[in-house]
Amino acid sequence: MKIIIDQDKCVASGQCVMAADDVFDQRDEDGVVVLLNDDPSPGRLADVRQASLVCPALAITVEA
Ligand code: SF4
Repeated sequence: MKIIIDQDKCVASGQCVMAADDVFDQRDEDGVVVLLNDDPSPGRLADVRQASLVCPALAITVEA
């Protein structure tokens, strides 16, 4: 699995962290998404896909 985030699109809503907090985090200063793991195990695919789907800014791309 490969995950790509676009920090310029991110609106700091935090939905991705709610879906997969082992993969996504938010910067303390402005809430913009930070990728903790760009190649999670296949078992995390459903939650990572969910994060991508719920992101209001379409800032998360998942290739699996
Ligand atoms: S869900 Fe999208 S907009 Fe919200 S913090 Fe995550 S990447 Fe940013």
